[in-house]
Amino acid sequence: MDTENFNTIQEKLCKKLDSRRYQHTLGVMYTCAALAMAHGADLYKAQLAGLLHDCAKCVPNKKKVRLCKKHKISVTPFEEENPFLLHAKLGAHYARKKYGVEDGEVLSAIRCHTTGRPAMTVLEKIVFIADYIEPMRDTAPRLDEIRRLAFQDLDRCTYEILRDTLEYLQQSPRKIDLTTERAYAYYRERNERDYGENG
Ligand code: FE
Ligand code: FE
Repeated sequence: MDTENFNTIQEKLCKKLDSRRYQHTLGVMYTCAALAMAHGADLYKAQLAGLLHDCAKCVPNKKKVRLCKKHKISVTPFEEENPFLLHAKLGAHYARKKYGVEDGEVLSAIRCHTTGRPAMTVLEKIVFIADYIEPMRDTAPRLDEIRRLAFQDLDRCTYEILRDTLEYLQQSPRKIDLTTERAYAYYRERNERDYGENG
């Protein structure tokens, strides 16, 4: 574990993020570590992905769109309308260009942390879940249950988070990203297969 690298990244991030976002970032990093321990994933990669997952979050929205286009990162019409989503793709780009991360697994975990996607890797699920359950989060429903599940079953936990997220977004259907819907359909099917329809 490269502690020096971690300290350098933290110092840099601290300047790029507002204090609330930075505290959230540390929460996600430590939660990623805990989940990696529980599920036998790579501790270093999990922390690195957690630390950098929101590194582009504080870029103004218009600039996010502009920078993505400039760096040839694809922007869907939906993302153009909801540019906050782009902090994930742009974050993966920054992680590589500004923070020297070469590991493809870490980069893809950053890239899909907001919407999820079908058939996520263990590392991707860990970051997706940690972002949702880190200790400072307090608004999501059923957090106690979902936090417990996170340490027992990553697929089931991913499914429950996607379900609650879509239910919440249902209130304004224009806000639902297709990738999230696809991810939900995938994990619903898995869940039904593994636990039966009422599982
Ligand atoms: Fe994020
Ligand atoms: Fe986040």
